[in-house]
Amino acid sequence: MSMLLDERLAKRQRVGNLRQLPPPFRDLIDFSSNDTLGMARSQDLMQAVLREWEQVSNLSISKLGSTGSRLLTGNSAYAEDLEHHIASFHGYQSGTLFSCGYMANAGLISTIACEKSIVIFDAQVHASVRDGIRLCRAACYPFRHNDLDHLEQRLKNSQESKERWIYIESLYSTEGSQAPLPEICDLANKYQARLIVDEAHAVGGYGPNGRGLVAAYNLSDQVFAQVVTFGKALGVHGAIVLGSATLKQALLNFSTPLIYTTALPLFSLAAIKCSYDVFPNMEEERRHLYNLIQQCRQANLSDSETHIQAVKIPGNKAVRQASQALANCGFDVKPLMSPTVSRGQESLRICLHAFNTEEQVAAILNELTIKNYAKQESSFGYLIRK
Ligand code: PMP
Repeated sequence: MSMLLDERLAKRQRVGNLRQLPPPFRDLIDFSSNDTLGMARSQDLMQAVLREWEQVSNLSISKLGSTGSRLLTGNSAYAEDLEHHIASFHGYQSGTLFSCGYMANAGLISTIACEKSIVIFDAQVHASVRDGIRLCRAACYPFRHNDLDHLEQRLKNSQESKERWIYIESLYSTEGSQAPLPEICDLANKYQARLIVDEAHAVGGYGPNGRGLVAAYNLSDQVFAQVVTFGKALGVHGAIVLGSATLKQALLNFSTPLIYTTALPLFSLAAIKCSYDVFPNMEEERRHLYNLIQQCRQANLSDSETHIQAVKIPGNKAVRQASQALANCGFDVKPLMSPTVSRGQESLRICLHAFNTEEQVAAILNELTIKNYAKQESSFGYLIRK
């Protein structure tokens, strides 16, 4: 292979952050997947998708693959109806489907920003936003995670720019922290910047009928665009960008991750439709999830108030060992290592789900105590001190 590539891989191996595929199946209690509401494993949803698929695939115009990009042969009335339905559910004028959230973020920011724009983004936004900024060559400035003063400073320092975008997530996937959405909206208004919110980890679990945190704060009219992904709490796959009709037109004209890719096939669209038929009514699951969050918070392991509870264990080696020790006790908890997070910010990422039981949560909390550590001689004895 390439010498440079060999060297880079060898370096990863040396410093202990070589990424590898995990075993395909481990019989462990799931405290790591993004299947927040348990929809991906719901037999009811699977049956509903198969019924929907049977209906639509019997139409003479139906095809297994979408056969082309949306702008060529991949469009359908089904896709357009679904976009309308999802946009109106979230309170936006238009929706534009993307193959996944990564492409939605990259396709959105690279469409709306250009060399003359400035993008100010939270330092913890998803990699797809940073990659999208590279595509459009806009100037970009991170602000410290959830730091309103730093954001304001960035806005003050960029007032000569004609166009400024603020890119945030409503619920961050690494620490489980929530963005101070009303305050960020106020700053965006004060400095005439436009706000984009990625709701990947919030839709399904939060807000009225699971519509997310922007809806919970009633702020959709102050958000220029919102990204919703379907592969997390919604249990399926794909994503949508929500915004104005003009935004949709711009995406169709300038968004290369949308223009130059095969559209989602009908089967995926049917799955998304069925998910939207079900998750708005999952109040009981959402209530149970909030109870588990409260149970976790009483243990005081993390600052997070959400279903993602990140427990800091600095150092790749230490956090990997902690994850392995939990696996030995029957729990699947992934370590967040550098370079995914910055050095020193390594942590165990405990994801709570509506299908986890109070007993399971109590058991994992028990494993995470100093007493237990002393018994097991694993490497994370300091972890309950925040
Ligand atoms: N945004 C955020 C905040 C995410 O966490 C992710 C997935 N890790 C994405 C976007 C990408 O979504 P998808 O998996 O659908 O590509």
